[in-house]
Amino acid sequence: MVRAERVCKNFGALRVLKGITLEVRRGEVMCLIGPSGSGKSTFLRCINHLEQVNAGRLYVDGDLVGYEEKKGKLYELHPRVAARQRRDIGMVFQHFNLFPHRTAIENVIEAPTQVKKLPKAKAITRAKELLDRVGLADKADTYPAQLSGGQQQRVAIARALAMDPKLMLFDEPTSALDPELVGEVLGVMRELAADGMTMVVVTHEMGFAREVADQLVFMDGGVVVEAGVPREILSNPQHERTQAFLSRIL
Ligand code: ATP
Ligand code: MG
Repeated sequence: MVRAERVCKNFGALRVLKGITLEVRRGEVMCLIGPSGSGKSTFLRCINHLEQVNAGRLYVDGDLVGYEEKKGKLYELHPRVAARQRRDIGMVFQHFNLFPHRTAIENVIEAPTQVKKLPKAKAITRAKELLDRVGLADKADTYPAQLSGGQQQRVAIARALAMDPKLMLFDEPTSALDPELVGEVLGVMRELAADGMTMVVVTHEMGFAREVADQLVFMDGGVVVEAGVPREILSNPQHERTQAFLSRIL
């Protein structure tokens, strides 16, 4: 579902991604860990086409992200085509980014009605199902300010799911939450994974990574230092940098 081949991304002279190669298969969950500034968010943003890669190739579901290949040469995609690629990818951020003046259900129907032009009645039916799925059936008409952080994040997940994404990206979805609210969000993510959603999750919740992820990737300085089965990496990290990082966060 996601294939990165030597993906590089620079911001001016700053080389942030220095040749990331990895693959996430359909239905798999990959957890990405690494120190601050290692390029985790940038990598997610490249997958979601919020950033353009400078070198290497990045594919989502077989399509080159942001470019078109003709006779071995790459051409930038028209913004409209690029926007269409992004529709199939759901993203959940650390700060939930809900529309503050819209209720939970209004947040969830926004993209399907505005972007996909789904009739409002249909969007509402689907949004109710999704709010029910994240355990918030009774909060449909509540505004974000009246919801806890964990509830807001679950609305954000429902909102991303409303576009029927084939891939979900999570960028530290629980790190802005009070500890007692982390579990409810991870629970929803765990169910999503069990339902077969393909997910790339930047998180430092190692319990989640160990139980749910098929692959754990440790990034540092814009490269993949170590990748593999979470249980093995967590109990027996091969690289010194992985060991040092894990000893700090575990
Ligand atoms: P954190 O754990 O703190 O979220 P991260 O691994 O997600 O870190 P990134 O946000 O990907 O790291 O940032 C990697 C590097 O790229 C940092 O040095 C950051 O300052 C830089 N960077 C990110 N976005 C931009 C941008 N739009 N312009 C310039 N530099 C950027
Ligand atoms: Mg980040």
